[in-house]
Amino acid sequence: MRWIQEFSKGSRDQRELLGGKGAGVAEMTRVLGADRVPGGFTITTEACVAYMEAGRELPEGLAEEVDQALAALERQTGKTLGDPADPLLVSVRSGARVSMPGMLDTVLNLGLTDESVVGLAGSTGSERFAWDSYRRFVQMFGNVVQGIPGSSFEQALQEAKDSKGVSADTELGAEELRELTATFRHLFEEATGGAFPHEPREQLRQAITAVFDSWDGERAVAYRRINGIPDDWGTAVNVQQMVFGNQGDNSGSGVAFSRDERTGESTPSGDFLPNAQGEDVVAGTRDPEDLAALADHIPEAHAQLLGDLARLEAHYKDMQDVEFTIEEGRLFLLQTRAAKRPAQAAVRFALDSVREGLLTREEALMTIDPEALEALLHPVFDPAHDFEVLTTGVAAAPGAAKGAIVLSASEAVRRAAEGEDVILVRPFTEADDIAGFHAARGILTAKGGKASHAALVARGMGRPCVAGASQVKVDAEAGVVRIGEKELAVGDLIAIEGTTGKVTADDVPLIEPEVGEHFSEVLGWADELRRLGVRANADTAEDAAKARSLGAEGIGLCRTEHMFFGEDRGELVRGMFVAAARWRRAEVHAAADGGPAPPELESARGEFHEALEQLGELQRSDFTTILHEMRGLPVTVRLLDPPLHEFLPLEHFEAEVRRLESAADDRLTDAREAAEIVRDLQEANPMLGTRGVRLAFLYPQIYEMQVRAVIAAAAEATEAGDTPHVEIMIPLVAYETELRQLREHVVNVAEEARQKAASPVPYSVGTMIELPRACLIAGHIARHADFFSFGTNDLTQTTIGLSRDDVEGSFMPSYLAGRIIDRSPFEVIDGPGVGELVRIGAERGREANPELKLGICGEHGGDPTSIRFFDSIGLDYVSCSPYRTQVARVAAAQAAIAAPDRG
Ligand code: ADP
Ligand code: MG
Ligand code: MG
Repeated sequence: MRWIQEFSKGSRDQRELLGGKGAGVAEMTRVLGADRVPGGFTITTEACVAYMEAGRELPEGLAEEVDQALAALERQTGKTLGDPADPLLVSVRSGARVSMPGMLDTVLNLGLTDESVVGLAGSTGSERFAWDSYRRFVQMFGNVVQGIPGSSFEQALQEAKDSKGVSADTELGAEELRELTATFRHLFEEATGGAFPHEPREQLRQAITAVFDSWDGERAVAYRRINGIPDDWGTAVNVQQMVFGNQGDNSGSGVAFSRDERTGESTPSGDFLPNAQGEDVVAGTRDPEDLAALADHIPEAHAQLLGDLARLEAHYKDMQDVEFTIEEGRLFLLQTRAAKRPAQAAVRFALDSVREGLLTREEALMTIDPEALEALLHPVFDPAHDFEVLTTGVAAAPGAAKGAIVLSASEAVRRAAEGEDVILVRPFTEADDIAGFHAARGILTAKGGKASHAALVARGMGRPCVAGASQVKVDAEAGVVRIGEKELAVGDLIAIEGTTGKVTADDVPLIEPEVGEHFSEVLGWADELRRLGVRANADTAEDAAKARSLGAEGIGLCRTEHMFFGEDRGELVRGMFVAAARWRRAEVHAAADGGPAPPELESARGEFHEALEQLGELQRSDFTTILHEMRGLPVTVRLLDPPLHEFLPLEHFEAEVRRLESAADDRLTDAREAAEIVRDLQEANPMLGTRGVRLAFLYPQIYEMQVRAVIAAAAEATEAGDTPHVEIMIPLVAYETELRQLREHVVNVAEEARQKAASPVPYSVGTMIELPRACLIAGHIARHADFFSFGTNDLTQTTIGLSRDDVEGSFMPSYLAGRIIDRSPFEVIDGPGVGELVRIGAERGREANPELKLGICGEHGGDPTSIRFFDSIGLDYVSCSPYRTQVARVAAAQAAIAAPDRG
């Protein structure tokens, strides 16, 4: 047969053709035997695709194949569809390649008609059961096939219960259910203007078509967009003999996990409803009992179920989640799949499965979703507590936090210093807000997405963050935040959950994470198996300590400009740049006039050097603390690389002028001059402007100061008995000559600093590769570098030509919705484009300099998919935010396990 496969002929390897459910049912039939799984067949996803392509026309030959497969099922079961004596009933179940819970449709009890319902009552000896099944069928068929809202049926059911004065469906007798069926049929005819189909084969044809159609239903399409599932996969349709959990107290339905779904402990867990069909368990119309209670109701079936769960788990080598039905004491399994589980349970399962001899370490590691692991480090909202969700934004950085609302970084710092927990609420965030991030428990913004400034910085610091909550209106002047109808003032309590994006004003209890020894052991296996080193991006001693405690093997990126943003340093840094610019200006004028150096030249130079000196002191002490935390491990210090506008926001200078306007003294003159200088420095494209190595050619003194500070700190550390490894990194190199000249300069300064120091310290000099040109000429650049670190954030920005600060608020959402791209290239490396440049850069660099060390330090360093790519092209290490360290360790191990013989 071309479009259909019987359950007994399929296997787990046919997910793409049969869908997850079809492949699972087929595999269970093989493993547990045909007695345990009701018989049936799968209409393939290819048939669905053909149906869609033909403009919703069933493909040629399908109808005949359905007849044949049905005839075989009738032979196998000894029952016939529509038989007035002992009818076969079937379910028609959707099932795509990947689970799309609740998105696609399923029809149960198909084959019931006014004749066959009598047969069903006769063969089962229960009239009540037969009419209960029939009314369910009319309800589901009406809902799924004709799109009649479920609520109209629910309402009729409620009325029937009310008039009998009972509260549960199970208390309705045969007579009431027969009447209810008639009412449902009436509803159906009213809504459709046609008769309810009386021919079982016609019912089947319509149901199959409806399942195919549900693939293109609004719900399913929206779900695919969000989850990046291709539109052209299609869904399979499973036609399966019905078994009945609603045949009395010796029957029932439920779901079961092979281990506890919350903790991963070895006891199976789940829900069970006596005398019910499966949909009742999911629908939540009745409160299910705990799986353990099944042992009291139907002990044999309970024991069999536990046995099957163990067999399936061993067979699939993963924790399973099954759906089951018990018909008069006889157990049937209807579905199996890998159990979704929280990180705790995933870790516990990995560990236990190895201890039990079920899995090897490699297999066990592969069952963990590394992405979920970060949650282990952060608190969550107590799931047992109800609260009102005011709005849901982008889940930008995991963890939950609560505290008093503050609207500015300075207020956050002030209140936190007094011991208060605060949440920083901003329309969006900027470089200046960094101190506020540190002080706050969490961050909430109205704009921006996962790659926004707020998200990046929050993730880096491990602060929960909800970004892009567009309903949040911040009125800083009035000191209020409006979320929909709700108005909150500064100081009011707000709680956010960055794992889900939820925002509430309720005082939700937080549950602190527990990282047990289980996790350490599993991480230990990952470390043994991975090839990639894992470092962290850290700019402060605090982050460095965190990174080290989470297993980072060094710092791959220490951004020195973040040290410039510290609280009391902003003024100093602005002063330094203004003095430097004044000095340059005076120099240019003097050269033009040809006269002697004017006095203002001297004074500007003096101020510049004065500011540099002070900053140098501060940087040295910063480096000292960081190097101490990372003793024995490498620390890559990146020399200054901000776009100038981040340090010199024009608004700041203009505001200063306005503030002093009435003062009319020297300070006003100075402020005006500073504002004018800053205005002159404005660039149309600061991200492509005077930054990185370019800044160093204008103001070499800044790099000199930084190099001296690093070397002095390293010397100090050596004297204290530590072994510091400093790697000095020059950013934004595009030309070989840039690096050649600057390296020479850096080495000169470093050597001089080393002479001065009591103990000689080792250091190396390398560069950040973050421009396409640098990747292409990597062979030349590598001659002057001890290491490369791929800066994939800027490389993505410059390769694709996307401004990473703007795209999320502009066209990126429509690109995602329109499926031009599946995920933002700032989240996952763009393999064929940006990734290819990294590969070229690595290859050419290594060819020219076999000793070259290769790393990557963009956001991608913490993304599992990207990590697999970096492993495949043979990089030495990834560097990610401290909180992603464990994610990266596990993801790197998985990359090595999945591709054991790389290169
Ligand atoms: P979903 O993908 O929404 O879980 P399913 O196709 O698994 O949809 O069907 C939902 C429920 O219907 C199942 O959990 C099961 O209890 C019930 N069901 C499906 N097929 C049968 C069957 N052949 N016999 C009895 N119950 C069934
Ligand atoms: Mg199911
Ligand atoms: Mg960069």
